[in-house]
Amino acid sequence: MKSRSIYRATPDHAAATATAREERGHWVMAALYPSSASARTVARRVPIAEMMPSYEPAGAYEAYAAHHTDGTALWVRYVAGDEPVPVLPDRMSVRIRHDGDGPGYSGVGIITVTVSTRCPQCGGPRGFDTVIPHRFHHDGDSYVVDRWSNKCGHVDMYDAVLAESREVLLPLVPAPVPSPGPPAKDSPAGLILTAAKGRRGMHAQQAARLLDVHGHSEYAERIRAELRSRKGHMSAKQAADLVHALSNPVVEGGVR
Ligand SMILES: [Zn+2]
Repeated sequence: MKSRSIYRATPDHAAATATAREERGHWVMAALYPSSASARTVARRVPIAEMMPSYEPAGAYEAYAAHHTDGTALWVRYVAGDEPVPVLPDRMSVRIRHDGDGPGYSGVGIITVTVSTRCPQCGGPRGFDTVIPHRFHHDGDSYVVDRWSNKCGHVDMYDAVLAESREVLLPLVPAPVPSPGPPAKDSPAGLILTAAKGRRGMHAQQAARLLDVHGHSEYAERIRAELRSRKGHMSAKQAADLVHALSNPVVEGGVR
């Protein structure tokens, strides 16, 4: 594993993209972040080149954030062009040798486990596409396990792979943020929208009063606060949008 750019104070995205372009489809570690939230934010921006000029044009790069021994790593790859690049799956299943957990020898055991396709040390792609069967003999019997090599150079030991397979596998990518659907009719926002339908040009002030009547004073207050900051320019529809957003906070998905 080259340590290029890992400990730089500022990630060198220009250097990372130059490397990535040299080998289209191959993942390059672009930066290391102390905070997983920062890494995930950048990983979301890379594919759309949002505030990330090195990754222009939008759609030229893919990215993901993954656990690294020293933080959270951002991995990117260059995908621009007509030929599709191989998909990086989230999981891989492999056969490993495991002779049992209990004390005493109970013979050779072969089990199939499912683990992440990301190297637990650097977050780089594991050699999921290099898996080959390996046959061995023991006491006259023949067994087959899987072997693979990781491009990053880190070696997976069967014990660690087994332990990892027993951990709860959390999603590797943040779950898509659900955009709040239309407000329910009996929700505070729904009440406003229903009333606004029958009252052309209904104002946010009237929306706030309506919510007071229905016992949603907290939202009514938020509308009035917003109304003051907008110097009175706010329609009931805008008040409904505000209330709907307040009652459907956007929560970021988790990442392992
Ligand atoms: Zn690695």
